[in-house]
Amino acid sequence: MKLERNETHDPSLSSWVESANAANTDFPIQNLPFAVFRRRGSDEGFRGGVAIGDQVLDLAAVAALELYDGTLQQSLLDCSQPALNLFMSRGAERWSELRLALSRALRAGSPRQAALHACLLPMDAVEYRLPCRIGDYTDFYTSIHHATNVGRLFRPDNPLLPNYKWIPIGYHGRSSSIEVSGHEVRRPCGQLKGPDDDSPRFGPCQRLDYELEVGIYIGEGNGLGEPIPIERAERHVFGYCVFNDWSARDIQAWEYVPLGPFLAKNFASTVSPWIVTQEALIPFRRPWSRDADDPQPLEYLDSAQNRAQGALDIRLEVAMDTRAMRDQGQPPQRLGLSSFVDSYWTTAQMVAHHTVNGCNLQPGDFFGSGTQSGDSDDALGSLLELTRGGKQPIELPGGETRRFLEDGDRVIMRAWCEAEDARRIGFGSAEATVSG
Ligand code: MN
Repeated sequence: MKLERNETHDPSLSSWVESANAANTDFPIQNLPFAVFRRRGSDEGFRGGVAIGDQVLDLAAVAALELYDGTLQQSLLDCSQPALNLFMSRGAERWSELRLALSRALRAGSPRQAALHACLLPMDAVEYRLPCRIGDYTDFYTSIHHATNVGRLFRPDNPLLPNYKWIPIGYHGRSSSIEVSGHEVRRPCGQLKGPDDDSPRFGPCQRLDYELEVGIYIGEGNGLGEPIPIERAERHVFGYCVFNDWSARDIQAWEYVPLGPFLAKNFASTVSPWIVTQEALIPFRRPWSRDADDPQPLEYLDSAQNRAQGALDIRLEVAMDTRAMRDQGQPPQRLGLSSFVDSYWTTAQMVAHHTVNGCNLQPGDFFGSGTQSGDSDDALGSLLELTRGGKQPIELPGGETRRFLEDGDRVIMRAWCEAEDARRIGFGSAEATVSG
């Protein structure tokens, strides 16, 4: 599948929704991401919406106008539901058809302006829920910089295990504790055991951490026993969000042998409300390559398409503030800035690998990319890396220090894409606050 630009990506397009034309908006007309929302504090039903500037276009309200017919009207009805799974299951042609219709209707000068103007709600007057029912959640480990940094803490002489360069490493996570931005994370309790302790004790996690990740939503699924070849992998990806996959490092260190992550990882994960579609990200695709010194991917993980444009330059930022910083009016402090473009494995490779044994993906399934870190100290996606396993505290404005997160700390993750020949688009944010 070739992912080619079309008229919806034209950087010169502007919208009759004036706020969508501001240079710094996350949601220009070239973006058009999907969320599920309702008026904040109301008892309205949740339904699908598309972001445009500082407004939400209510797709249930658009459907009710019956401006369209055929598959377009069906897509609007699909998006009127309180979860987007049905629309996501319809496939790439249907997603693209709706994107084109909305792009044309929201353009400056569109004859649809008068009708659609009545379907807008200010973004600051809405609340969100998860955009779809997430059936299964799989967490990958695709940043070689992160894998090396973490491996070095445990195995200084041999940081990277030998399978890393052959397999997109992952594990099955838990979807029930994935929440949409704006919630509180209760500090988990569990068995804690330091390297020098004789036996574990039970208590609140002392090494609570964030993980800066990309979230990937599967659209159309595959049948059980029918692998998705890498050439078709991208047709099954509906879109992306920014994702905080909270981690309890002390619980993890004791429990993870031999079966891997369990209670250290399944107590909370935070998604940003909006799904930025695969199609909106086309201008930010980049060539992917593997160093000549490294093993080249096995055939099922390699394709000309993946080498030509398999990587995605999604810039990822993590920032935090503390209760004291908020009380003093201090802005959040940036802790790391990385890009998914540095990932060792691409989304297409994750999809192909996940299904190569016949495992079936379903509409609304979710992948975490794994913590995305770059190769410099200002590009680290977790506190574990930033503080060298808690050995080197970071300093915050106002004089506080942190090794790991304390109660009242708020973690704010953002993502955006920039390229010289494209309009900048953003993902909004994934924010949550730690409570004791
Ligand atoms: Mn993770």
